[in-house]
Amino acid sequence: MKISRVSAAAAAAVVALGLTACGDGGGDSASTGDGGGGAYKVGIKFDQPGLGLKEGSEYTGLDVDVATFIAKELGHEAKDIQWVQAPSAQRETLIKTGQVDMIVATYSITDKRKAEVSFAGPYFIAGQDLLVRADETAITGPETLTGKKLCSVTGSTSAQKVKDKYPGVQLQEFGTYSECVTALVSKGVDALTTDNTILAGYAAQDQYKGKLKVVGKTFSEERYGVGIKKGDTATCEKINTAIQKMVDSGEWQKAVDANLGPAGFKVDTAVNPPKADACA
Ligand code: GLU
Repeated sequence: MKISRVSAAAAAAVVALGLTACGDGGGDSASTGDGGGGAYKVGIKFDQPGLGLKEGSEYTGLDVDVATFIAKELGHEAKDIQWVQAPSAQRETLIKTGQVDMIVATYSITDKRKAEVSFAGPYFIAGQDLLVRADETAITGPETLTGKKLCSVTGSTSAQKVKDKYPGVQLQEFGTYSECVTALVSKGVDALTTDNTILAGYAAQDQYKGKLKVVGKTFSEERYGVGIKKGDTATCEKINTAIQKMVDSGEWQKAVDANLGPAGFKVDTAVNPPKADACA
């Protein structure tokens, strides 16, 4: 079929208008991620060693390995994955607007989040803990934080837990955990709270070796899920099948050892590997 010059120009104008109206980032929200060509967009953290870390053009971590395995099972080769930074507070929005096809970013399954997105998994279970300077002796658990300056991240279950359970703490919220680590080292804050997995990764980084320590007393259960569009049960089922295959094949254990092992992280084998929840 031949398209006239006029209608082609009109179509171009509509596209231009659409882009203007949608603003930055609004122009590529069409992909729903099941098959087809083009990039498969996966949200991960960029600054969490052992979980999701970007160094130049290299992406490493347990979340990266789990996401790569799942993507492959869904029909997307590793080379077709486009990694998108997914800060804690932006995860629901990234999914809802189609800026990512799925999120694998230390993303705890919670009822509050389930009102906005759906989760496959869990694929790992962690627990909230505290990171302090190596010479710290007063902070031994969350109940010792009263009057102390504690850092966490906006939109995380970690910050929410402190607000709900430990109101006497001076909570400072940043956009990423690496900002909290910088503040902790420079004594701007006294402690950092989030999942023990993430804290172990920072404590083991070369530049912080001997300077930081994880308290080692967890006070929550963080069930890491794979965030997808709300109600996409078919994709949820496929992802759960993929996770089970990753566990059964030994690839899950390999990925856990390779990514969390170097930090000396002790996996809680009483709850890991976890069984997936039913897809709602
Ligand atoms: N797993 C927790 C959460 O999903 C803390 C880690 C994070 O912020 O990614 O909020």
